[in-house]
Amino acid sequence: MSNKQLDYDIIIIGGGLVGAGLACALGGLNANGNKLRIAIIEAIPFRDAAQPSYDDRNIALSQASYRIFSTLGLWPDIIKAATPIESIYISNRGHFGAARLHAKNHGVDALGYVAQTRAIGEAFKQRLQNLDNVELICPAKIIGLNITDELANILIEQDGKNKTLSCSLVVGADGAKSKTRELLGIATQTHDHGQTAIVANVTPEKSHNNAAYERFTDSGPLAFLPMSEQRCALVYTVWHNEVEEILNLDDNAFLARLSERFGDRLGRLIKVGKRGSYPLALNKAEKTLAKRAVLIGNAAHSLHPVAGQGFNLGVRDIAVLAETINDALSKNNDIGNETSLKTFQQWRQSDQQRIIGFTETLVSVFINPLASVKLMRNIALVGVDLLPPIKNLLARQTMGIAGKQPRLARGIPLN
Ligand SMILES: Cc1cc2nc3c(=O)[nH]c(=O)nc-3n(C[C@H](O)[C@H](O)[C@H](O)COP(=O)(O)OP(=O)(O)OC[C@H]3O[C@@H](n4cnc5c(N)ncnc54)[C@H](O)[C@@H]3O)c2cc1C
Repeated sequence: MSNKQLDYDIIIIGGGLVGAGLACALGGLNANGNKLRIAIIEAIPFRDAAQPSYDDRNIALSQASYRIFSTLGLWPDIIKAATPIESIYISNRGHFGAARLHAKNHGVDALGYVAQTRAIGEAFKQRLQNLDNVELICPAKIIGLNITDELANILIEQDGKNKTLSCSLVVGADGAKSKTRELLGIATQTHDHGQTAIVANVTPEKSHNNAAYERFTDSGPLAFLPMSEQRCALVYTVWHNEVEEILNLDDNAFLARLSERFGDRLGRLIKVGKRGSYPLALNKAEKTLAKRAVLIGNAAHSLHPVAGQGFNLGVRDIAVLAETINDALSKNNDIGNETSLKTFQQWRQSDQQRIIGFTETLVSVFINPLASVKLMRNIALVGVDLLPPIKNLLARQTMGIAGKQPRLARGIPLN
C-alpha cells in the first residue's frame, strides 16, 4: 500500500552495489496501480575516486546472481564486461589435497562469472536513469533517523543543509560501517581476520582457460579469477604486518613472491597492474530488522572474500526483499509491516548463516598451522574431489543455489 502523505514509499540508504541493485529490482513494482516512489541516499558520486563500491576490483558473480540479474534484464549489460568461470581448482600449497569443480558436471554453462564492480555499477546506473520513480540523492548522507508506528523520518545532510524525508520503509544498504545500523541501535559481531586482501590484475604466460584457482597458503588464501585478454584478477590475502612491504615491492619482485605462493600451473607470471589493498573482517549485524527498517548487503554481513560470496549474498538479499515487498503490495498491505519484514528475515537467515559459516570455516581451517588440522584439510580436499555428493554440495554452495530460491533466481519476474 502506498501512502501519498509521505515523501517516498522506500528510502534506500547507500547506492553501492547492493543499494543500487535493490532500486533496479524495485523500480518496476506498483502500489495501487502507481509506481513505487523510491529514493536512494548516497554519500559519494559514482565516478568519484573515493567511491568504495564501484572501483577497479573484479569480483566473482555466482550462478544465482547471474539468474537474478538475467530475470531483471540487467545481464546483457553486465555480460559485456564479464568472463565465465568454467572450472574451479582448489588446492593447498605444499600438500597433496586438491578439489576440482567443472561447470559441465553440474548442468550449467558456467559456475559463475568475473566482472568489474564498476561495470556492474554502470549497468545499474543505465537502468536507474530510465526509471522515473527512482530518485538518486547524491552526495548526501544519513545523519538521523526517527521511526514511529506509521512512518520513518530520515534526516539527511546535503550541500551543508539538513533535510527530513519520510517513507514507509527504510533499507540500510550503506556498507560494513553502516550509519543506518548504528542509528537503529543494532550491534554487530566483528571478527578481525588479521588479514588484508591485495588485489591486482595479473597476466600469466599460459591461458587460464576460464578456470578459477583458489590456493590456500600459510598466510591465507590466494585466488586467480579468469578475466578478458587472458588476464587474471588476483586476490592475495596476507597478514596485516606484511602489507606495506608487499605493496612496496617492484613489479618483478611482487610477481616472484606471487609465483612462489601460487606455483607454476599458469606458467610464468608476466605482468601485474595497479595494486590495491582491503583489510578484512567479518561484520555481522545481530539482527537485520527493526521497526520499518531492514539491513541488507554489507550493512547486514560483510565477509572475508575467500569464497567470493559477499556481494552474491547481497544479491539474494535484494531478490528476497523485492519479492517480500511485491507480495505485501499485491495484498494491499503496508510495505513496512512487521509481519512481511519478518518473513524476509526468516527466509534470509538460513542462507546468511550457511554462507558466513562456510566462509569462516574456510578461513580458519585453511590457515591453521597445526599439523593435524593440515592433514585433515588435505583429506577433506581429496574427499571433496572423490565423493560426488560432497562435490555437488560444494558446487551448489559456490553457485549460490542451495536452499529456497526466490522467484527472480528461478527466472520468474515479479510483475
Ligand atoms: C578484495 C575483495 C574482493 C571481493 N570479492 C568478492 C567476490 O568475488 N564476490 C562477491 O560476491 N563479493 C566479493 N566481495 C564483497 C563485495 O565487494 C561486497 O559484498 C559488496 O561491495 C557490498 O556492497 P554493499 O553495497 O552492501 O556495500 P558497499 O559496497 O560498502 O557500498 C555501500 C554504499 O553506501 C554508501 N554510504 C556509506 N555510508 C553512507 C551514509 N552515511 N549515507 C549515505 N550513503 C552511505 C557508500 O558510499 C557506498 O556507496 C569482495 C570484497 C573485497 C574487499
